[in-house]
Amino acid sequence: MMRYTVRFPAPQSHYAEVEMVLPPGQRTLMAAVWTPGSYLLREYARNIEGLTAYDEAGKPVEAVKTSKNRWRLDPRAVRVSYRVYGREMTVRTNFIEGDFAVLNGAPTFLTMPSMLGEPHEISVVTPPGWTSVVTALEKVGDNRFRAADFDELVDSPILCGSPLISRFEVAGKEHVLATWNDGGLWDLPQAARDAEAIVRAHSDFWGGLPYPRYAFLNLLVEARGGLEHKNSTVLMGSRFDGRVREQYVKWLLLVSHEFFHVWNVKRLRPVELDRFDYEAENYTPSLWIAEGFTAYYESVLLRRSGLITDKEFLKEMALTLESVETVPGREVQSVREASWDAWIKFYRPDENSVNSAISYYDKGAAIAFILDMRIRQETDSDKSLDDVMRLANERYGEGKPGYTEEQFIALISEVAGTDLTAFVRRLSATTEPLDYQPALEWLGLKLAPPEAPADGSPEPVWLGAKLKVDSGRLLVAAVPRGTPAFACGLDAEDEILALGDYRVLSDKLDERLKLYRVGDKTSLLVARRGKLVTLEVTFTRKPGAWKLEVDPKAGPAAVARREQWMSGRQAVPAR
Ligand SMILES: [Zn+2]
Repeated sequence: MMRYTVRFPAPQSHYAEVEMVLPPGQRTLMAAVWTPGSYLLREYARNIEGLTAYDEAGKPVEAVKTSKNRWRLDPRAVRVSYRVYGREMTVRTNFIEGDFAVLNGAPTFLTMPSMLGEPHEISVVTPPGWTSVVTALEKVGDNRFRAADFDELVDSPILCGSPLISRFEVAGKEHVLATWNDGGLWDLPQAARDAEAIVRAHSDFWGGLPYPRYAFLNLLVEARGGLEHKNSTVLMGSRFDGRVREQYVKWLLLVSHEFFHVWNVKRLRPVELDRFDYEAENYTPSLWIAEGFTAYYESVLLRRSGLITDKEFLKEMALTLESVETVPGREVQSVREASWDAWIKFYRPDENSVNSAISYYDKGAAIAFILDMRIRQETDSDKSLDDVMRLANERYGEGKPGYTEEQFIALISEVAGTDLTAFVRRLSATTEPLDYQPALEWLGLKLAPPEAPADGSPEPVWLGAKLKVDSGRLLVAAVPRGTPAFACGLDAEDEILALGDYRVLSDKLDERLKLYRVGDKTSLLVARRGKLVTLEVTFTRKPGAWKLEVDPKAGPAAVARREQWMSGRQAVPAR
């Protein structure tokens, strides 16, 4: 067994001290270089300092670094100590401060390659005044926890500090909602009731809860993100999210998303993620299923939990479809390519990402929507994508080898009762446009493309560049293809100075664009690496937000099918 003690002698300096007791005869120490679920090598060893090995008598012995993340120890070493620096506020790294710490396994705990499958036990010594240590790990003593193996340790983030704790039970399992830093702005009993409703909706969907206990680590630290784990999740948001309905709905969606992962990706997973290699990229083509289908069900199951209105649900779906249909990268990259290259593209976005890449979240969700309705059509409402997920979980879930992309696609055909291989491949492995029409008609919905203003006012025009303001300067962040900005030769990092003969201040561009009509031409003065450049821009119509709406002309059968989809109840097939 590997044993660790974590201490925070000076948390305000953002350091934790770790001491590990080694089994005898081991010589190689390693640090993980990435956190599963977040597909980027993050080189955690860069935050490890002062590593020292000791023999039985407490005398320092040799510890030689042999690669960026490995050390070779003197065989007499029985104890190692090191410091971990943590000041990166993300769901996969460490953050340590005067009154709290969030620790993730990969950036915190060194281990030994030969010990990966063995139990890892940790003790946490908290500074005075910190009231809790919250983690989904099995508790074996006072602030002592045990992981069955290194995977479980890495998969179990730890929140130390004084969070507010709410508890609820579903199906006899204990759930903890540990909220840090709400500033008194959240109705936490309500948030716990809502989390409970989400747990129930997902439990109904999958048919039970597969874990011994579950923890929501809800960090309201003015950062964004979520990361899934088998028995817990880290959620990051803002203390103000609890007060604004739109923001709170986003939090509910995040809870629903991460909770769907309890199954999809954590237990039902691509075969390539069966065993993690903690020291290299782990490539899979199937993140469009693992993340995309999760992105679809996050809103579907939130609707079924009763926590959002139909309008909020359709708005969320419309946002997803809009983001697929307005990113030029959809014509360049398929979702299976996006999945494979997550390590070098999705997790390393740059100014050209919008033109070269598609999100396997958004397009994966759009594909799930299309497939869900196709299966319902093929089976006369008898089966749906829900059945695919449940059957996949039975076949490739916990304790069984994961699925290959091919096996998952075959399973879709099996549930649909007809061979959909070519259909699915076209969606997932090509850049051909998605056809939503059959799905929309099936549900009696229409996806209203942006239209001209109803009040007869002139159509707004746009430049189409993504902009940012830096020290009061209006800078171009990205130039999507197919926009006036792209056509006129605007570049990322250009500083916009003037439209026509007049200066444009950083907060005045929208106002100035109101002076122009569709088809108008004017000069655009920019500074490019310090040199003034004049471009000739022709304005086009500014696209409005996409809307997913109920089609008033839809018949009762479509209305019944929509109700069945949104409620998850098995309705009598309507013809
Ligand atoms: Zn996810």
